[in-house]
Amino acid sequence: MNVQQKLEILADAAKYDASCASSGAKRSGNGKGVGHSDGMGICHSYTPDGRCVSLLKILLTNFCTYDCVFCVNRISSNIQRARFTPDEVVKLTLDFYKRNYIEGLFLSSGIIQSPDYTMEQLIQVAKSLRTVHHFGGYIHLKAIPGASERLIEQAGLFADRLSANIELPTQQDLVQLAPEKKTAVIESTMNKIALHKDEADEDRRKLPSTPKFTAAGQSTQMVVGATPATDREILKTATHLYGQYKLRRIYYTGFSPYPDADARLPLKPAPLIREHRLYQSDWLMRFYGFTAAELTSEEEPSLSLTEDPKTTWAKSHPEFFPVDVNAAPREVLLRVPGIGYRNVERILSIRKYHRLLIDDLKKLHVRLKNALPYLIAIDHIPHQQPAADEAQPFTQLDLFAPLSALTGSL
Ligand code: SF4
Repeated sequence: MNVQQKLEILADAAKYDASCASSGAKRSGNGKGVGHSDGMGICHSYTPDGRCVSLLKILLTNFCTYDCVFCVNRISSNIQRARFTPDEVVKLTLDFYKRNYIEGLFLSSGIIQSPDYTMEQLIQVAKSLRTVHHFGGYIHLKAIPGASERLIEQAGLFADRLSANIELPTQQDLVQLAPEKKTAVIESTMNKIALHKDEADEDRRKLPSTPKFTAAGQSTQMVVGATPATDREILKTATHLYGQYKLRRIYYTGFSPYPDADARLPLKPAPLIREHRLYQSDWLMRFYGFTAAELTSEEEPSLSLTEDPKTTWAKSHPEFFPVDVNAAPREVLLRVPGIGYRNVERILSIRKYHRLLIDDLKKLHVRLKNALPYLIAIDHIPHQQPAADEAQPFTQLDLFAPLSALTGSL
């Protein structure tokens, strides 16, 4: 099998991993090697189903000794297999980079022989790119759960980002669908990354020449909709992971059925809108001061598919509103539907000079339709707040609409 044929198989196999965004990496070219990841960062492209894919996003191999039921690369899957050598991946990366096709590499792999052996192969690619070819572009490596501390430390010195996938929302889900994987082992790998990053950041504060460790931090991916885990459980797991291991991002991937899938899996894909609501909730928890427990309840453990989670919260807390845009503190303004966190900062600074009218909010592109029922301005007092059952009829949202969780406006 030639490299081109391997590329077709292993790039296709990598498309199921959504944890490939590169935001946050800063690695300047030094004028000797090739590439840098400053400024715009890595180029992204989007598959027709809306997932983010970098052009050279590949697996080292789609052979795998594990049998995760939800994964097309599992050992019992009847698919064509291929395996790159580390040198082939290095050459491909450099060739693609020099042709301006890519700005970085996202490299994952099935588990071959053992977690340590697999991790060593991934490190070999990154080490060669950095030390032999002086590649300054973005590198995201998969951290193989269970790999030894020594290897995680090495990987973090060459990669801008590491990601150990949590795979499913609960340990119980893993028992059912990924029997070789253990939450404790995955989290132990995340912990090693977090500890090494803390140490390296601390050392760099004292001695700036200390090498960076995963400059863009760590991320993880969670498949949703493959098990009955509720949005409440998913958000609880997310809160735990963000708090415990300082993850930069969690990527939620709606389960998609594939041919000849195991009978334990759902026949239908998870609705894209559910994935979108989880991202919105994730954003609310990280930037708007909401907790997972506020966004769902024991009685209503699923996020609404018909309205965004901030609006759902606002409708169920009439005692909190209306909020005076000219007097409310930051944390209160952040809870008003239709006002994104950047606009909250703008409102706070405009308020120092004059009191705001609705026209001022219009100029800031506040989504007035969403915000007006909850806001008081000099020239506006809401008549009444919308009732909880006045949700808009369901429409499939555009995941990449200009105003969305991805832009910070909720
Ligand atoms: S270890 Fe990774 S590649 Fe292997 S079956 Fe599980 S999810 Fe798929």
